[in-house]
Amino acid sequence: MTEPVAANDFIRDIIRRDNEQGTYGGRVQTRFPPEPNGYLHIGHAKAITVDFGTAEEFGGLCNLRLDDTNPDTEETEFVESIVADIEWLGFHPHRLLHASDYFGQLYEWAEYLVQQGLAYVDDQDGETISAQRGGFGKPGVDSPFRDRGIEENLDLLRRMKAGEFAEGSRVLRAKIDMNHENMALRDPVMYRIRHSHHFRTGGDWCIFPTYDWAHGQSDAIEGVTHSICTLEFDTHRPLYDWYLEHLPLPGDQPRQIEFARLEFTHTVTSKRRLAKLVADGTVDGWDDARMPTLRGLRRRGYPARAIRAFCTEIGTTRTNSRQSIEALEAYVRRELNATAQRRMAVLRPLRLVIDNWPTDASGAPVVEYFEVANNPENPADGTRQVAFSGELWIEQDDFAEVPPPKYFRLSPGREVRLRGAYLVTATGVDKDEDGTLTAVHATYDPATRGGDAPDGRKVKSTMHWVSAPHAVDVDVALYERLFTAQVPGEATGEALDDLNPNSREIVVGRAEAAVADAAPGQVLQFERLGYFAADPDTAGLFHRTVGLRDEWAAIQKRQG
Ligand code: ATP
Ligand code: MG
Repeated sequence: MTEPVAANDFIRDIIRRDNEQGTYGGRVQTRFPPEPNGYLHIGHAKAITVDFGTAEEFGGLCNLRLDDTNPDTEETEFVESIVADIEWLGFHPHRLLHASDYFGQLYEWAEYLVQQGLAYVDDQDGETISAQRGGFGKPGVDSPFRDRGIEENLDLLRRMKAGEFAEGSRVLRAKIDMNHENMALRDPVMYRIRHSHHFRTGGDWCIFPTYDWAHGQSDAIEGVTHSICTLEFDTHRPLYDWYLEHLPLPGDQPRQIEFARLEFTHTVTSKRRLAKLVADGTVDGWDDARMPTLRGLRRRGYPARAIRAFCTEIGTTRTNSRQSIEALEAYVRRELNATAQRRMAVLRPLRLVIDNWPTDASGAPVVEYFEVANNPENPADGTRQVAFSGELWIEQDDFAEVPPPKYFRLSPGREVRLRGAYLVTATGVDKDEDGTLTAVHATYDPATRGGDAPDGRKVKSTMHWVSAPHAVDVDVALYERLFTAQVPGEATGEALDDLNPNSREIVVGRAEAAVADAAPGQVLQFERLGYFAADPDTAGLFHRTVGLRDEWAAIQKRQG
């Protein structure tokens, strides 16, 4: 896989123009600003790729800033996971910063705005304030506290900060315009009272800035030039600019640029809904291999490189759309095809007994070893010896006692190739008293060692196999989509209504011995079956990352 190439996009155009005009003195600085209230998901990977990738491309820098302005939902655990997940994706923040580091400066600026007559304390509750905001084409209503004097406002703000008032009893609001056509400018709330413990500032603060009051100012303090965020903040940009214009700030102020969120079919990225899946026990945790979190995808075996390449190559636009999850899977498959070692494993084992297999002088079945390439795509991965003997495991699917039309795999009287080993012909079956198939009998042709007949006769099918006496047991988790609907929630409005109750099946398979040596997290290709990731914590457990068939290519072909 070659290094991903970023498509040219409107963000790069803006930065180029700024650089040409000498804005910011040619400096480029971005930031990735997650709220530490959950784990990063595949949507965040897009933002990370844009924020870090763009800065890197222009020789600039990108900080990680935790937007920790809400003490009730944020935790150190999330900060640590965010830091680790960004590193895993392959990006390195220039610095690790926190919005809470600026609480003191933000407060000083709030007093400044009060002194300018540009902010006031409102004694109304949240419900009243929101009812007064009006709507599109419906003017807002001025708060009865809007024209309070500066001294009274200052006094109240100081007392809010000192902890004199109950939660929800007062807020600080910017005094802008209650009839502004942009709702975000109808006297937005700057501070709310929360008597909660904050994971970093502890009990130092009982007033906390809103997103809008914290964000642009944090950008300005850090020297951010281009503050890239998702489209839902589009209508907040005038407010972002308003705060920066009205504060005593020198030089060029940061510029907010919005792009469309990354969403996928069959996938939900809302933290609230993902949290519910975890709380309900629908999944094992935030890092369950079915979760669209970076931890989940990592457990599932998605290479960081594939995620990065996808996020870079799909480009960045201002049009909301949903990507096919199959398109991301195609990137994963492409990367794994190049990097994953090949092994043989049987997921639904059926015993195959070769009746004419030789025994040695002591009467024990002979064991033969075949040298097999670890990855035909990458000779540097070398070869390994795979044991073969007279008792093998094959897939149940690869045998039919009564073959349906166009079935070319093993059936009585039919000859097939056991991959890299011999041609075998099925001769009969064993059944238990219930009539259930327990074993298939076959004979092999010793002249076909390596898998080809010297007389040139052809077989229609090549099957994988595992030598039974040498096999190791593996638990294999097979996954279906976590959400059955292409657009979860499209029908009912609630994505969780489209949960697939059967998104995971765990089977006990048999694998060649080398599978036991897989490193935690290593992804292997099980021949003919797909890619499987060794669980990072539990030895002997594998997750099906993705199948071998390129469903994305098929979808594109159908769409012509
Ligand atoms: P969620 O809705 O999942 O809680 P969020 O937007 O609240 O996500 P934050 O932690 O605030 O999550 O997001 C950090 C950054 O990641 C923001 O700049 C946000 O715009 C961006 N981001 C979040 N989700 C996506 C997405 N699906 N696609 C692209 N960027 C995203
Ligand atoms: Mg958020």
